[in-house]
Amino acid sequence: MVSFDPQNIQDSINLIRKSTTVALLTHMHPDGDAMGSTIGMFHYLESLGKECRIILNDRYPHFLEFMVDPQVQTSLLVHEEDPVGVKAYLERCDLTFCMDFNRFSRLEHLEEAAKTSKAHRILIDHHPAPAAEEFDLLFSETAISSASELTWWFLKEILNGETSRLPKASLTALMTGMTTDTNNFANSVFPSTLQMASELLEAGVDRDEILYNLYNRLSENRLRLMGHLMQDVLEITEDGVAFILLSEEDQKRYPIREGETEGFVNMPLSIDCVKMSIFSREDNGKARISIRSKKGTSANRCAARWFNGGGHEQAAGGRLIFREDVPSFKEVPDYIRTSTHKFMTEDNE
Ligand code: 5GP
Ligand code: MN
Repeated sequence: MVSFDPQNIQDSINLIRKSTTVALLTHMHPDGDAMGSTIGMFHYLESLGKECRIILNDRYPHFLEFMVDPQVQTSLLVHEEDPVGVKAYLERCDLTFCMDFNRFSRLEHLEEAAKTSKAHRILIDHHPAPAAEEFDLLFSETAISSASELTWWFLKEILNGETSRLPKASLTALMTGMTTDTNNFANSVFPSTLQMASELLEAGVDRDEILYNLYNRLSENRLRLMGHLMQDVLEITEDGVAFILLSEEDQKRYPIREGETEGFVNMPLSIDCVKMSIFSREDNGKARISIRSKKGTSANRCAARWFNGGGHEQAAGGRLIFREDVPSFKEVPDYIRTSTHKFMTEDNE
């Protein structure tokens, strides 16, 4: 079970008490856990009467729209759309919550403005190796499902167990973030995760509605694209590395929304001989990379060594920039074959 340093908890309580203007930050390309942990914390701070803004580098994918209620909507500041507003808010806030990322470079274009803010910084995260010097207080735990789960235990601790003081919207957001990061209880499930789920169900969170919103409202094109990718594009190397490439051409053929490729990368792991799976999507001068691995193979090390990224042991991501790492998308398959062969035979002992 998660245990907290009492001094860190007391310091957090004091920082929250003293603050009037709070910024909530999360990583670029926000996913369900990024939004869940951030929105969960947001609703709690709003209930205390704080002025709060959720600040994103870029917008969340469409399938997470259901998490963004009008209160969250009006609080949102997106750097890609309003860099001046973001900078102005970060200059005047006095507390920052850093949710679901371990170093400021994960904020991409938001990094500079966030770093120049004088506000205190509290980290709530579950990625390995946080940049400790970048934060004032760290709640960093890797043996946990998600930042959303850690946020739940953090809030329970600072409320001294009185979770009935948390708004319902906060609980729903945390359950949603935990659900997406565990892939609906398929990965990274700890005893504490099931306990959290149980407590949230007890508190009246509607899990059926969350599952409906997450998994039953996708487009027809998404399913047809998935069929095409699994049938015609998937390749498996002799080292047990599966990879799928989604070109801009296929994206035009099967128009889907940002975020609708979520889950594709996991599918080849169902094959016995596959140890690691890579999904790459052509995106504006680069190939975005998602990696998932089975135990014994490190997605994190492969992403860091070959794909300018990182993440968790079994789930990581990165990118290949055209003309820097590879000439163009056409060369990505060769790059993946060669780099993963080296990785699987040399580095991954
Ligand atoms: P996804 O494949 O879902 O985009 O990312 C999987 C995991 O890897 C997430 O926890 C995400 O935060 C992390 N991740 C994705 N891209 C990067 C990256 O470029 N750098 C680092 N350090 N982590 C990443
Ligand atoms: Mn996460």
